[in-house]
Amino acid sequence: MPETSGVELSIHQLEKSFGHLHVLRKIDLQIASGEFVAIVGKSGCGKSTLLRLIAGLEKATSGEIRQNGKIIKELNPQARIMFQEARLLPWRSVLENVGVGLRLQKDWKQRAIWALKQVGLEERAHDWPSVLSGGQKQRVSLARALAAQPQLLLLDEPLGALDALTRMEMQALIEEIWQQQKFTALLVTHDVNEAITLADRVVLIEKGTIKMDLPIPLPRPRNRSDSAFIELEEKV
Ligand code: ADP
Ligand code: MG
Repeated sequence: MPETSGVELSIHQLEKSFGHLHVLRKIDLQIASGEFVAIVGKSGCGKSTLLRLIAGLEKATSGEIRQNGKIIKELNPQARIMFQEARLLPWRSVLENVGVGLRLQKDWKQRAIWALKQVGLEERAHDWPSVLSGGQKQRVSLARALAAQPQLLLLDEPLGALDALTRMEMQALIEEIWQQQKFTALLVTHDVNEAITLADRVVLIEKGTIKMDLPIPLPRPRNRSDSAFIELEEKV
């Protein structure tokens, strides 16, 4: 499979309301190609809404999102989302779940197997999702996102329901895949540690506005016992 690259995002004065509920206000955000940005903030502050707008699943009330200079109006073909729940189809094999978005392509199986290899689950290709652990299901969900070779990976609290050890394994896996494929990544997380470990920048949203945009200058791989890490953790 060829190497993937990233997209550049430029968000300008983005506003989103649902009826009287003003969810996002005057969001300005520039994201470079291949950058890994974490988005943190309290429940209900508008994180998922922002990802959905970038994915083109939702329409902005005003303002714009440009991807490589072009305004995103409809479903974003470069983007794939991964959610907290794997959302696998129970009556389809692991392989078919991974290939679900590729069924019109002749080589969908090859692509799906490639994606399963990326997450270390090629041996489970012909299993039903129901026999997998929670962590394995999330690996399948990651493979399904990767199978399309997205230039933009949107991660909406993907590890939120996993136990601590599995979460650390998955963080390392996401880091490794991102290092190889250079797609642009946006990670919504409640876990400040996770944000600092994975991202180049941490953006804090409060009541629909960007309250902080903090670069993470630490070298990778990041050591959580580092004093610089701990200092950053206090700042976020
Ligand atoms: P977060 O992901 O930060 O927890 P969301 O972006 O999911 O927050 O939601 C922000 C606010 O917008 C919440 O108050 C939520 O109830 C509301 N909201 C989200 N989607 C819709 C929708 N489709 N219709 C009405 N309200 C919505
Ligand atoms: Mg959310």
